[in-house]
Amino acid sequence: MRKTAFLMVSLFIFSVFVFAQNKVNVVVIGAHPDDCDIDAGGTAILFAKAGHNVLFVSVTNGDAGHHEKGGGALAKIRRAEAQEAGKRFGVKYVVLDNHDGELMPTLDIRLNIIRLIRQWNADVVIGPRPNDYHPDHRNTAILLQDAAYMVIVPNVAPDTPPLKKNPVFLYTEDGFQKPTPFQPDIAVDITSVFDQKIYAMAAHESQFFEWLPWTSGKLDQVPATEAERLKWLAEWRNPNINDKTKQSLIKWYGNEKAGQAKYAEAFEICEYGRRPSDEEIKILFPMLRK
Ligand SMILES: [Zn+2]
Repeated sequence: MRKTAFLMVSLFIFSVFVFAQNKVNVVVIGAHPDDCDIDAGGTAILFAKAGHNVLFVSVTNGDAGHHEKGGGALAKIRRAEAQEAGKRFGVKYVVLDNHDGELMPTLDIRLNIIRLIRQWNADVVIGPRPNDYHPDHRNTAILLQDAAYMVIVPNVAPDTPPLKKNPVFLYTEDGFQKPTPFQPDIAVDITSVFDQKIYAMAAHESQFFEWLPWTSGKLDQVPATEAERLKWLAEWRNPNINDKTKQSLIKWYGNEKAGQAKYAEAFEICEYGRRPSDEEIKILFPMLRK
């Protein structure tokens, strides 16, 4: 009984905290300018539309992501694309000036990420898992894990006031099975904003219509007009809902609404941040309230 009462009081205090500021502050961290967009873009739009604050951070400047361009010239193009994508998503987009393809989880970059999370007063931080094919993605995950907890430690990056509470850290979905497959603890129905997500992603022209088609041998299939390109991108980047995500959607939305969902984004709770109860998750993710 006493434990239950304690949990109820904790939840009440947490609710007062979030509702007092009346906004949920979300930071999404990706290795490259377009990673946040792909992994959490629909969820970001839902947060932004409801008046919450979302920050996208690309830890590298993307200066290796092209077959014909590179270096400072490419970084400039990608920074401009990220700014345009940010407008379309309704989020602030920050691109850090670290080289693409060479990212290491250094102390300097860790401290910068800690500062960004603190300055945004983040309630939720989202990023990749540490098992991934791309070294920049893996190292971004390590940076995210290394920032969890340290964001509340006053003597680390003492030039930026620490957070009063450890945020909830979440991993974005991937298909890698080893050492452990992704677990969709939270699934967000993004069906209503899927078209906007595709439109916003399309701002990264050098990626979705040049570089990525080149890497997968379909550069000759890229359509010419904008309308055709959006349709093509939506078909190519359609995140299909697998069985585990479906079960998570049912948990959060109920059978009927989950059955109508065509597109979803899923997240796994990182053990190093705040460990939220289901009730806390519903406060942090208002779109999950039935
Ligand atoms: Zn990437």
